[in-house]
Amino acid sequence: MTESAVVGRGLDGLRDVVSGEVLADGDAGYAEAGRVVAADRRPQVVVRCAGPADVVAALRYAEAQDLPIAIRSGGHNAAGFGTNDGGVVIDVRPMGEVKVLPNDVVRVGAGATWGEVAARLSELGLAISSGDTASVGVGGLMAGGGIGWMVRKYGLAIDNVVSAEVVTADGSVRRVDAANEPELFWGLRGAAGSLGVVTSYDITAVRQPTVHFGTLLYPWTQTEQVLNGWVEYAATAPESLTSSLQLAPTMMADRQVPVAIMVCVAGDPAVLEPLRNLGTLLTDKVTEVPYAEVLSDMSMPADWQPRIRNGLFDMWWPDLTGRLLEARQQLPAMAMEIRALGGAFGAMPADATAFAHRDAQFMVNSVLMGSVEAQGSQPGEFDAFWQTLRPNGAYVNFLSDPTDEDIELCYPESHRALLAALKQEVDPGHMFRNALSVSPRPE
Ligand SMILES: Cc1cc2nc3c(=O)[nH]c(=O)nc-3n(C[C@H](O)[C@H](O)[C@H](O)COP(=O)(O)OP(=O)(O)OC[C@H]3O[C@@H](n4cnc5c(N)ncnc54)[C@H](O)[C@@H]3O)c2cc1C
Repeated sequence: MTESAVVGRGLDGLRDVVSGEVLADGDAGYAEAGRVVAADRRPQVVVRCAGPADVVAALRYAEAQDLPIAIRSGGHNAAGFGTNDGGVVIDVRPMGEVKVLPNDVVRVGAGATWGEVAARLSELGLAISSGDTASVGVGGLMAGGGIGWMVRKYGLAIDNVVSAEVVTADGSVRRVDAANEPELFWGLRGAAGSLGVVTSYDITAVRQPTVHFGTLLYPWTQTEQVLNGWVEYAATAPESLTSSLQLAPTMMADRQVPVAIMVCVAGDPAVLEPLRNLGTLLTDKVTEVPYAEVLSDMSMPADWQPRIRNGLFDMWWPDLTGRLLEARQQLPAMAMEIRALGGAFGAMPADATAFAHRDAQFMVNSVLMGSVEAQGSQPGEFDAFWQTLRPNGAYVNFLSDPTDEDIELCYPESHRALLAALKQEVDPGHMFRNALSVSPRPE
């Protein structure tokens, strides 16, 4: 592709050089192409990139036309970052190949979904700890970190990356690793969406064909006791155990919703015994399954507008249980999940990746369910509740309405300074920009 083929010839020039699909208003499939899980927008053009050269063409086009860019992989970002109005969507989904290389390294296209990756690796008895949802994209989850069902055993998804191929704002296609462009390799692992378009990752998979996975259910009347007992055990348990405690919205089941602990054991299931004694077990559905089966999908009604916010906590504050349970009663549409961290996640030094918060022991994640009408005044109360919680940090991938303060929560000062310097080097014009991206360092 020559630069002049794109620059100055508008959409026709773009169509001529791109080998994937180019969809603009009037093309079949355009409306669907502008839609992601959390947003329905009308980009000027969606470029479904078949390879890095298509990404370069899309970037050159956006630059020549002075249009904003959105990167789209699985389309699950809660803030709708995967699309835009009037701009260029760089859709990496066609680059979804999963290829096994020597030494259990897997080359994963950024457009694959984690369900596809898990299914392919399952045939070989391999696994990569990613997230809990099959249809989430490799590109977006990796951009922020990837907190999955084996995070305590194998760390974040980014912790197992050995190299990445990325197209940067200047149109160069770079393969980066710990030896080649180590700063960019550092930045991609936690802030990729600010730095370029990743086309593939090489990730070391683990030999983990099966896990013990399932749900333990206790009566709603024992919620406080079970939560406190779980907190005491979960983050210091053997790292083969990754668990989360789920509190469904109290608007369900006349407020008497059982408390659920979801578990995934990559090892001896005896680590579950202390959990079975936390309260009166109503259900004990833990079975050995192929890892690929633990990834699931949930659908939601089209008119729902979930509001999502999370906080990372270095320790369980003495009054945290009370405050969460109180908020839960005040916000009947709010679902909460508390994920235990620690283990291999915490063994990584905080400065090793752009994801910073390695001291976090727990992530409290909350979702306000329902349509805007059904939520009524709850969004305001939800935000006010989070204002008072003051977590130690936040995870960039679970924020539907990010603010400037959220950038500070996601990336502490030392990380922000490094990212700003890196951004100045690889994207001085701030092409890769969304509400959670770090700006280039001012001159
Ligand atoms: C139902 C559900 C369950 C989830 N479960 C988990 C979980 O268990 N663990 C977890 O960690 N997260 C989880 N998430 C959060 C998820 O990681 C983020 O929403 C993520 O942004 C989704 O990735 P995507 O590719 O599907 O999104 P997209 O909307 O396609 O992309 C989001 C953004 O990621 C960046 N990005 C995407 N692709 C690339 C690329 N190739 N190069 C550079 N940047 C890129 C861009 O900024 C892009 O705009 C979940 C989300 C949902 C909706």
